[in-house]
Formats: sequence, C-alpha cells, structure tokens
Amino acid sequence: MQEYQLFIHGEWVGSSTNDTFDDTNPATLEKLATLQVASGDDITRAVRSAQETFTSWSETPPPKRAHILFKAARILEERKEELARLLTREMGKVISEARGDIQEAIDITLYAAGEGRRMFGETTTSELKNKFCMTILRPIGVIGMITPWNFPMAIPAWKVMPALVAGNTIVMKPASDTPLLTIRMVEVLMEAGLPPGVINLVFGPGSTVGRAIVHHPGIRAISFTGSLETGKWIVSECGKVMKRVSVELGGKNPILVMDDADLDLAVDGVIWGAFGTTGQRCTAASRVIVHTKVKDAFTDRLLVRTRALNLGDGLLPETDVGPVINQSQLDKIEHYARIGQDEGAVLLTGGHVADPGLPGYFFEPTIFTDVSQDMRIAREEIFGPVVALITVSGIDEAIEAANNTDYGLSSSIYTRDMTRAFRAIEKIDAGITYINSSTIGAEVHLPFGGVKGTGNGFREAGTDAVKEFTEVKAVYFDYSGKLQKAQID
Ligand code: NAP
Repeated sequence: MQEYQLFIHGEWVGSSTNDTFDDTNPATLEKLATLQVASGDDITRAVRSAQETFTSWSETPPPKRAHILFKAARILEERKEELARLLTREMGKVISEARGDIQEAIDITLYAAGEGRRMFGETTTSELKNKFCMTILRPIGVIGMITPWNFPMAIPAWKVMPALVAGNTIVMKPASDTPLLTIRMVEVLMEAGLPPGVINLVFGPGSTVGRAIVHHPGIRAISFTGSLETGKWIVSECGKVMKRVSVELGGKNPILVMDDADLDLAVDGVIWGAFGTTGQRCTAASRVIVHTKVKDAFTDRLLVRTRALNLGDGLLPETDVGPVINQSQLDKIEHYARIGQDEGAVLLTGGHVADPGLPGYFFEPTIFTDVSQDMRIAREEIFGPVVALITVSGIDEAIEAANNTDYGLSSSIYTRDMTRAFRAIEKIDAGITYINSSTIGAEVHLPFGGVKGTGNGFREAGTDAVKEFTEVKAVYFDYSGKLQKAQID
C-alpha cells in the first residue's frame, strides 16, 4: 500500500503536518492508500508554484497546450481498463459505469484539446469610423479546484482540462474518499508533457484544506462541485473578497411518467436513474412524478425490476448496484428511510442497510409511494438508492410538482405526445431536460449545470467549458489617428 505525499511543482513532497488519512474500498473495506494531509504552509507552497508557472504557461500558445491534452487523452485511452478497475475499487460504482467515468474524462480531454484551436472571441462593428472592435479570452490565473467523490475522474477532468487549455494554473484538492483517480490523471498529464507547477495537488479534509484553498489570497478563482451546504458557504466566502467562484451542486431530479408513456421504457429509465451509481449522482432520479391513470401498472413493473437488482462488489459482472461511499453516507440514507416512514410515506421495498456478504456500506434499493410534495424525502437530496413516487393527474400538475424543489439540475419526461414534451422543455426549471430517457447521460459537448440551488449560473463542458476559466476582454482598436468619442461624436 502506497503513502502519497503532496504533488507540488512536479514533485512529490512531504507535508509539514504529521497527519495522514486512509483511502479504502467501500465494498470490501480494503485499504488502498494512505495520504498526507496538507497544512496552510503546504497550500501556500502549492499556490506559489502555480503563480510562478502562470506566466510561462499562459504565454504558451493554446494549440501547444492542447497538444499535451491530446497526448494525455491517448494515454488515458490505453489505460482505460486499469483505471476503471481502480475507480470501482476506490469509489464502488459498478465496472461498466467506472469505464464510463474514465471515458467521460477522455471525452472532455479531447473536447478541451480542440478548444486550443478555437477559443473564439468575437469581431463586431463600431459606431465610429476607422475603429475595429473585438473580444478576446484571457486566462484567470491560479484556480483552486475542489471536487466530490462520486465521479472520481470525470469531474476533476471536466474542470482541469478546459482550465489548462485556457492557460490557467491549478491547485487542486480531490475528495478524501477518492483521491487516487485524480492522482492518476495528474500523472498522465505529466507524462504527456505538462510542465512542473501547472497543476499541484494537496490532500486533506474540506473543513481545513478546502477552506484554506477558498481563503487563499493567491487563488484567483474557485471551481467547486459538491453539496449545496458547502457550495453556499464557498460562494459567500468568495463574495466577501470578490473572488470569482463557480459551483455545481446537488439535485432532486424528477422523472415525469405521463399516462401515454411507454411504461417499460419509463421503468428502464427509473431503474437506471435512481439506482445507477447507487443513486449517488447529482443527476440521480430521486422523484418519480407519475400520472394517476398509470400509477399502479407502472409501480408493479418498477417493483419487480427493483427487487431483482443484485447488490455487491462492482468488479463482479453480476452486480447491478454497488456500495455507497462511506459509513456517514450509509447512516444518512438510513436516517432518511426512517424520516419517510415517520412522515407517512408508504415503503414499498428496501429501506434498510443490506448485507450482500461483504463488510462494506450497502443499502437496499428503496421505493416510497404516496409521497406528498412537502415531505422531506421529496425535497431534500438523499444521495442514495431511494426514490419517491408522487402522483399527479395531468401535465400541468406534473410540471408544477417537478418545479417544487429548491434544486434545478436534471429532469425527464416519458410521453409520446409532442405537445407535452415541448411543454416540459419550456416549463421545467432545470439545466437539463431529457425526453424519453433518464435524468442521467450528459455528453461533454453540451453545457452541464443547473438553476436555483444547483449552481450560480455557470455551466461546465460544452461551449461553456472554457468560459468558466477565462475572462472576456473587449478590445477597441482606433486607427483614425484622431480623438473619437463614442456616444458623443
Ligand atoms: P461535499 O461534502 O460538499 O464535498 C465536496 C468537496 O468539498 C470535497 O472535496 C470535500 O472535502 C470538500 N469540502 C467539504 N467542506 C468544505 C469546505 N467547508 N470548504 C471547502 N471544501 C470543502 O459534497 P460530497 O458529499 O463530496 O458530494 C456530493 C454532493 O455533490 C451532492 O450534493 C451532489 O449532488 C453534488 N454533486 C454535484 C454535481 C454537479 O455537477 N452539479 C456533480 C457531482 C456531485 P472532503 O470530502 O475531502 O472533506
């Protein structure tokens, strides 16, 4: 078992604390690695390294920066299977989904690399003669990145790759539950030719190391993905010093099942959306808003499929649902299962800690019905394999129920009626709406993010990917040779 130091200026260096923590497999509780915890001084060292490197990196032509990313994508492709197996061991998701996590990292690396020859500004007209107007994108500086554990490689890659191609340097803290895949990604980038100091890694709890990154005056912007609670705190701290901040937070994502839906397809979508990644996706389908006319038929089919799901070690091909990430997440899910029953919802299946014969953290796929919209299980993000069925009697009521949440990330509708589908597209308050497919399945060339409590207006990936990590400058080039006054001449 390896002990990891901190990665600063291209080298592994010892932390100045004596503290360490363990990275364990949530299915088997096998220890995978030990990591050193960074101190405030270590973080300052990492920030200095990123500051010192910024000039040379930001002056490197973007296509040359992109070349390193293209090379990194090739190495990731070669190592995909090995990385996916490590990801399952570290995070618990089933191996097919772990391969998807790595593939998403490869996809965003290639997409961001393509930006090296795009990163378009605009040219436009001027209200004055002999004057040329355009916009250019400039890197921000040192970016502090703080990531969660549920997509151990894809989420770090969504941030790192666009930030790099845009010319920024980075100090990054991965989630303490899943640091290894971030480490592997950085090793690949270094192998591909990234200069020392462009990316620096520090480890330790969010409550100390994460906070120190947020507060560090040398860090110009924070890019955070995680819970609403942490996100609110980070946004308010950054607001105090006018530090740029982008946050991608939680969801309470609905699937609407209308009375004209293909019910088997809708059941497929709910099984995948609610129990894929053991419900630990920001886009997980945690509410199913079903038309009263098809409620019984839909529920019967959903129950049969849910009860047939196999829990176990994600490396085994017969496993459908892996463990949850840690003991505190298991306790939280169990707590919500009790809250649901205390609130008067009807527990149809699941509701308990499961025992698939492994020492790790397993919870039964759980379905509540007769859930009313004011119940906590219908409003709060549980982040586990728990789904709440809510009954409605028409499209307008369904959309109203879908919008009755503090979050607004993903949403989905199953219907064969185009008018209903377009109503959902127009009226659901969410960053993403799927028609006849589940709430999960984002592709990297489309913008990803949400409204209301899900974020602060930024989008990751897609054409927005580099916007998160650049500043726009407006340029006025006056070649008239005389003083010209806009709005006055
Ligand atoms: P979290 O508890 O907020 O932690 C996320 C990251 O923030 C971890 O690295 C954590 O460090 C760190 N952190 C915790 N407190 C901090 C603080 N005060 N200051 C700075 N950093 C701090 O969230 P999580 O439980 O890991 O992740 C699950 C949440 O992420 C869910 O709400 C999910 O919906 C959301 N999520 C959103 C998206 C999206 O794109 N919208 C994608 C995936 C997940 P340690 O864990 O190491 O202590």
